[in-house]
Amino acid sequence: MDVSIVIPVYNERENIPLLYAQLDRVLAELDRSCEVVIVDDGSTDDSFARLRELAQFDPRLKVVRFRRNFGQTAAMQAGIHYASGDVIVTMDGDLQNDPQDIQMMLAKIDEGFDLVHGWRKDRQDPWLNRRLPSLLANRLISWVTGFPIHDLGCTLKAVRREVARELELYGEMHRFIPILAHARGARCAEVVTRHHARQFGRTKYGISRTTRVILDLMTVKYILTYSASPMKLFGAVGLCCVLLSGVAGLGTLGMKLLDAVDMTGNPLLLLTVFAMLAAIQFFSLGLLGEVNARIYYGSRDKQHYAVRELLNFPGEAEDLAVLPSRRAA
Ligand code: UDP
Ligand code: MG
Repeated sequence: MDVSIVIPVYNERENIPLLYAQLDRVLAELDRSCEVVIVDDGSTDDSFARLRELAQFDPRLKVVRFRRNFGQTAAMQAGIHYASGDVIVTMDGDLQNDPQDIQMMLAKIDEGFDLVHGWRKDRQDPWLNRRLPSLLANRLISWVTGFPIHDLGCTLKAVRREVARELELYGEMHRFIPILAHARGARCAEVVTRHHARQFGRTKYGISRTTRVILDLMTVKYILTYSASPMKLFGAVGLCCVLLSGVAGLGTLGMKLLDAVDMTGNPLLLLTVFAMLAAIQFFSLGLLGEVNARIYYGSRDKQHYAVRELLNFPGEAEDLAVLPSRRAA
């Protein structure tokens, strides 16, 4: 299988037949073997019934139905899990992304990129509650992670399967896919994509999404920079606390000896004790983090490196490059 199109869908009954018709047209022109993996994220309307009808007549259409609504990120992860294409294209199921862009994105992958992400330059969403927060969030994320990006919220992406499979998505993490993939060494490219206003159904998100994205940003930053060595972060803060405690302690003593200031009445003594306690807390957090990193990388066949190619290894190079656990499966 050359290409899998992965689409999370939640209560998109009117959009499904139109989406299918658009995809059908685009895939016919692609000249590659394709499948469409639609993940029904616990729809409460008759989205699934419509998908079942379509799937009856088209074996290319594969449907994964969740028991309940698990969220777009989970749906995306499931879609990637069940996809068998060499390249995985993700897109929204609400006709806001345009399947006509798929060809162009695949051509970009053929140029040698591992991940191609879209930029909805001419985005058709309300300005105040959607585009403005998104603009600010993108700027902030770009600045914090050092990854140049205009539009993290664009679901339309093409990713090589081996890169997609390594992603660990939870929370609202699907927004950070290009950044997570880049951290694993993927070559990323941004392309301008079309965007349409929503015609049917309603958006599943509001302004509250912004806070969740900001919280996820902290997690992503931590994972990118410190997950393999948490002591570097917590230890450094702990050392600062020790220093602060030492200075405050010496100050207390000095004031007692030189100016006969009563130690118990001196707020600096409080600072000494408090900073020392904080230091102990931070060192403990660092140690716990280190143990966690060992458990994470040790027991689950996770590597903190990623192999692009192997030469002169027996067996299929690609087979060896994937994680041992997956090779066995
Ligand atoms: N979606 C989903 N599960 C959810 C919320 C959304 O599968 O819990 C799907 C939704 O059906 C759509 C895509 O994710 O195909 C993007 O959602 P939406 O259009 O509401 O987001 P927006 O474009 O407004 O950012
Ligand atoms: Mg949408």
